[in-house]
Amino acid sequence: MSSGIYIHIPFCSRKCDYCDFFSFKASSSYVDKYIDALLDEINSGKHQALSFDSIYIGGGTPSCIDASYINRILSRLYARYNLNSPEITIELNPETITCEKLQIYKESGVNRISLGVQSFASKNLEALGRHRMVDLNSLWPVIFSIFTNVSIDLMYGIPKQTLQNLREDLRSIPENIKHVSCYCLSIEPGTQLYKKSCNLNLPNDDLLLSMQETIINFLGIKDIYRYEISNYARPSFESRHNLHYWQYDNYLGFGAGAVSTISGERMENTKSMLKYLSRNYVESAYSLSENEQINEYVMLALRLIKGLDLSAFQRRFSKEKVNELLQRISDNNKFFYLKDNFAALNSQGLNLSNTIVSNLFL
Ligand code: SF4
Repeated sequence: MSSGIYIHIPFCSRKCDYCDFFSFKASSSYVDKYIDALLDEINSGKHQALSFDSIYIGGGTPSCIDASYINRILSRLYARYNLNSPEITIELNPETITCEKLQIYKESGVNRISLGVQSFASKNLEALGRHRMVDLNSLWPVIFSIFTNVSIDLMYGIPKQTLQNLREDLRSIPENIKHVSCYCLSIEPGTQLYKKSCNLNLPNDDLLLSMQETIINFLGIKDIYRYEISNYARPSFESRHNLHYWQYDNYLGFGAGAVSTISGERMENTKSMLKYLSRNYVESAYSLSENEQINEYVMLALRLIKGLDLSAFQRRFSKEKVNELLQRISDNNKFFYLKDNFAALNSQGLNLSNTIVSNLFL
């Protein structure tokens, strides 16, 4: 079974108003020290016996640092780990893209890019506290001349957004995009948007549902199908890395704030830069109980449209646990369907997934 590697680059050019990720404004002196600490962490990493078929460089905005750092990180991973034809993704912000950077990524082994578009409309970007100084239409030819496997992140449920406005965003997606992640804006405590949340004029629940249906239908017509609650892909362009999370496979995380889970053993890295730079990488390490693993497995696998693979679940846990799960599913049967040994949420269940899935917890 293959596993994934995640690399966290916590730097951004500026902080967006809705962002609650572990990220902050980059300063060049910090970046250099951080990458040195990250390379040391990779060097001291264990689990060389595992085989990895995906690397995901996320953040933050990995493209806001010099591309030579990405080259060094990937070289170190190749030297240290058993990489099996990996899908290598890097997250990019349109403002920080140059042709030269894209070339260096490609030469370093990157074969998939994920572009944080969020919206094509400047009104929406302003509402999110993001600003776009580049013309995306001039960037696409550069991007597609270097990469074919391109994903974009879009957001909906933006303050004052209308269905018409969402349709315009969807129509602006270039034809050759292979993957779209479409997230509903969530206002998290501690963010700038949260402080303004009383006056935001957010779309109501009915409009949000219509927006989601519009996204599913629009992308479906383009042969970009929904394979996870918030993710859509052309056939065989699903994110290999994210599938590892949803299928509860092993993954290693490097960088401040990164998390690893290997065979039920979890390790969470520190979010303190000072600790990270002094090589005190790990904040906590603990074993997940069997019930905790089962609950996480169910919660993640039911995000997939094809659902939870009951045979894989049985191999990992036991026949008794499958029977217990099937009993809980049958108690909530109007939200599920069973097909080809998979248990999946139906469309009603997907709309209420948080509540329904928590009914299945042990
Ligand atoms: S670019 Fe992404 S990670 Fe950086 S501040 Fe904006 S939302 Fe957060």
